[in-house]
Amino acid sequence: MVRGTYYRIILIKLKILGWGVLSYELEDRVVSLVSEKARVRRTLESLLDPSEKARVRADHHSRRKPRPCGMTIHTGIGCSYGCIYCYIWDMGFPGSPRPYPLSPLGMAYALALNPYVVPGHTLAAYGSVTEPFLPETREHAIEYISTVHEWLRLPSQVSTKAIIDEELALALKSREPGISVLVSAVALGELGRRLEPNAPSTEDRIRAAGAASRMGLHVTLFLRPIIPGIPLGEYEALIRYAREQGMERIVLGTLRVTRGIVSRLRAAGVEIPPSRLPETLHARRQAPVRATDIKERLKLVAENMGFTVYPSACAANIDSHSLKCWKCPHGPCGGRPRDPGVEQVAAALRALSGGRADFRVRRIGPCNYRVYPRSGISRVEIAAHWVAEVSMCRVAVAGAR
Ligand code: SF4
Repeated sequence: MVRGTYYRIILIKLKILGWGVLSYELEDRVVSLVSEKARVRRTLESLLDPSEKARVRADHHSRRKPRPCGMTIHTGIGCSYGCIYCYIWDMGFPGSPRPYPLSPLGMAYALALNPYVVPGHTLAAYGSVTEPFLPETREHAIEYISTVHEWLRLPSQVSTKAIIDEELALALKSREPGISVLVSAVALGELGRRLEPNAPSTEDRIRAAGAASRMGLHVTLFLRPIIPGIPLGEYEALIRYAREQGMERIVLGTLRVTRGIVSRLRAAGVEIPPSRLPETLHARRQAPVRATDIKERLKLVAENMGFTVYPSACAANIDSHSLKCWKCPHGPCGGRPRDPGVEQVAAALRALSGGRADFRVRRIGPCNYRVYPRSGISRVEIAAHWVAEVSMCRVAVAGAR
């Protein structure tokens, strides 16, 4: 196994200090991944000009902590689909889209700089704050997916309301063969048109998604957002239509609201019952509506129609890449990952924190660890994130943000 000199020195130091003479598998894996990431970073650095490197270093992709669904990667700024329930309007994004200002190599470099990103392990999520496959951003999004996968091997998911035509399906399949494609939809017919005025019709979108599935792409219906106030029958009809078109997988997601989203929905003829709304509505901060019971009923409907129902978008990504994950209480997804044990978790944390942090590790259940830092909390936090990503187990830091 090839390791960087820096990490070899750290390991020797650790052994001299009596922290173990055994070479633990998890420790080896994290050390090897740190070396791989450093190599990628150096190579990308040599390919970019100084002005782009400066732009990348100032970009939030180079430092932002991944969300539970993975590292969200912005392919563009703004969106022209104008979906009534969308939160990006409250975040100040424009209605006319443009490609995200980093080049594909620049984006790969930003992720290689980000201390939380683990090559081959951190899930990449495209399409969280814009539609990736708008005419203005489609090529850029494909290049991002391709370049990030080529350099960092991140298992990718993309969520879209665009038509996955044959050309797009082939491009995605050839650039990131395991990519998880989530096709979002909320309602058929006139209601769907009212809620998503400029997006392709739900029917066209789902027909194309079914065809892309038959071409071997891992496609999932992302029934989102479930909006209380829309009759259950509308959702049932949508799920049935997707099944008829050959879709077999589904993720259900509920709505998050701001004051603006509630009033835009009202203007479009959808009134959310007050009992379903959060106690306080904010102008910008989103809060979930109360819809767990509706989600559970729709889960049963989908299961009865033969769908595989994933608990979340990341579970579809785990499945499409044949991985196993138990990083949250929804798991295990894709099967149970191997439980490394306290010794391996501690050894990997020590290797990652360079021996400059003091902590205790406790196993609180299968594949579930808690780290208690005594010093160097931010160092321990990043190390724990890496160990979780590589082991696919829960490794939480007590007292972390
Ligand atoms: S256990 Fe499942 S739901 Fe939880 S993070 Fe992993 S893939 Fe996602």
